[in-house]
Amino acid sequence: MNINRNFLQLKDGYLFATVAQKTKAYAAAHPEKKVIRLSIGDVTRPLAPAVIRAMHAAADDMARKETFKGYGPDFGYAFLVDAIRAYYREKGVCLDYDEVFVSDGAKSDCGNILDIFGEDNLVLVPDPVYPVYVDTNLMAGRRIVYLNANEQNGFLPMPDPAVKADIVYLCSPNNPTGAAYTREQLSAWVSYARERGAVILYDAAYEFFVTDPACCRSIFEVEGAEECAIELCSLSKTAGFTGVRCGYTVVPKALVRGGVSLNKLWARRQSTKFNGVSYVTQCAAAAVFSEEGMRECRENIAYYRKNAACIAACLDSLGIWYTGGKNSPYLWMKCPQGMTSWEFFDRLLEEANVVGTPGSGFGRNGEGYFRLTAFGDAAETEEACRRMAAWLRK
Ligand code: PLP
Repeated sequence: MNINRNFLQLKDGYLFATVAQKTKAYAAAHPEKKVIRLSIGDVTRPLAPAVIRAMHAAADDMARKETFKGYGPDFGYAFLVDAIRAYYREKGVCLDYDEVFVSDGAKSDCGNILDIFGEDNLVLVPDPVYPVYVDTNLMAGRRIVYLNANEQNGFLPMPDPAVKADIVYLCSPNNPTGAAYTREQLSAWVSYARERGAVILYDAAYEFFVTDPACCRSIFEVEGAEECAIELCSLSKTAGFTGVRCGYTVVPKALVRGGVSLNKLWARRQSTKFNGVSYVTQCAAAAVFSEEGMRECRENIAYYRKNAACIAACLDSLGIWYTGGKNSPYLWMKCPQGMTSWEFFDRLLEEANVVGTPGSGFGRNGEGYFRLTAFGDAAETEEACRRMAAWLRK
């Protein structure tokens, strides 16, 4: 028998493991020091009360013969699909019922969606990038070309007509850089994809953080995107569902390649390989989209946004170049004094007892940059900023 040898091309997932191991070693050697983590990509605020109430009520439904639920509909309960459609209508996007596919999160769908594409497609991935896009394509043996995101283009690279890609990954607001494309910039990507017959895989996991009216919260706000894009979204960051697990993928019916509807292919794939998201989770997800749920989720986002503003103010006062922090929980800073990403990591840990994520772990263009997150505790974030500023002003 043969194994899938493409797996042997994958690099070890050493970034977060090394961050954790270095942090642990430092804390063990200096038990008197309080280490603050601005490295976490996970949320820390508890679920909204409206969500918790819905989960309890759903658990009670499962306890009664009359309301018990077994297997649910393949693509999500109608009450959730309709809530998602109403959420999109507020963004000015009309979705048909069968264009929305409820999932257990964006990470799984980022990988799963590749089932519907041929292995000989050329994949365009920005660098730096959320590592899942690269690894899932390497596993399938696809060729990848990298698109340079850098300080010159504000970490928002634009299409190059000379690059003949078939699948294009865009993540906006971006992990790790926090940069967000404007509607006009996304329009240029939509034109590129339509001219080439390419498909954009648009990761909107951080859309709820967008405040700038010039930026989009869905690629379908751009005219023509329904003919060239698939949108992957998640309640992980919107509503703190990282541990609950619920997301959704939008595959428009207007998206046709090689005379075949990608919506039909995805429906076929999902009904074959996926058995849906639990009833309790879908009730919780529907509560996110209720008036009360939305208000409570916005309060949590406002909390993180304050942290982001605090970090941004600190970087501004130090004259350090950065992107993000406005439409995103991530800030992507240039390492001061020409340090490499790992040099800055080590010095920040030793001098300020603060942990962040080295940019070089997200790709070649991440070298010399560093990711800080706003997902932490407010008082700790303020303290981390004070320490970092005191160290760098020395
Ligand atoms: N997409 C991006 C860009 C992310 O940063 C993350 C998680 O950090 C995900 C997707 C995964 O989201 P989920 O929790 O829905 O799997």
